[in-house]
Amino acid sequence: MKIVLDFDDTIFNTYGLMQEFLKIFLIEGFNEEQFWDVYRQCKKKIGDFDKDIFVDLIYSLKNFNKEEINKKIDFIINKSNEFVYRDFFDFVSSFKKEKLILLSFGTTEFQKTKIENSGISKYFSEIIITSRNKADDMEEIQKKYNGSIVFIEDKAKAIDDVKKRLPNVIAMKMIRAQGGHTETKSELTNYIIQDLNKLEGIINNLRD
Ligand SMILES: [Mg+2]
Repeated sequence: MKIVLDFDDTIFNTYGLMQEFLKIFLIEGFNEEQFWDVYRQCKKKIGDFDKDIFVDLIYSLKNFNKEEINKKIDFIINKSNEFVYRDFFDFVSSFKKEKLILLSFGTTEFQKTKIENSGISKYFSEIIITSRNKADDMEEIQKKYNGSIVFIEDKAKAIDDVKKRLPNVIAMKMIRAQGGHTETKSELTNYIIQDLNKLEGIINNLRD
């Protein structure tokens, strides 16, 4: 049995982190619309959020003291552990580390820093930061291990891609109250969950 967990909006309150970044730029005189517009531009440009690219993009709208802003952003990133959903810690304490794999999409150093600073690495036997379709990584995981695989993820497309390729994977679509993909519906998920509470029973009842 392996339990593969996504990072953003599954175990980590990415929305909460972005709200803290937003506050910094509101104080600088930007408005919310400009902030999210640049956020989307950044994601479009590199497929992911990156601090440096975001700062450069928003700087082109209106100049500010980059050094000061970077310091404020780093201060928030350094306390990334505060954005880990509390139910994560109960959940991981129910399973052996060998069973747990983190599979996060990321194309930047920023994603790595965020995960490292969140302090969750020690709970996983393997940490995979991928820039591929997660179905590719899940296929490799399935080849490597015998037994059932649980996949916990908030993105409907990622779940459906994995289920199409690997129908035996048991998928759980996470819908956090503040998640980023709450509106997207998965066609193929086995379960829909709102948090990681009470999953121990379901997972332990699965054939190993
Ligand atoms: Mg996610």
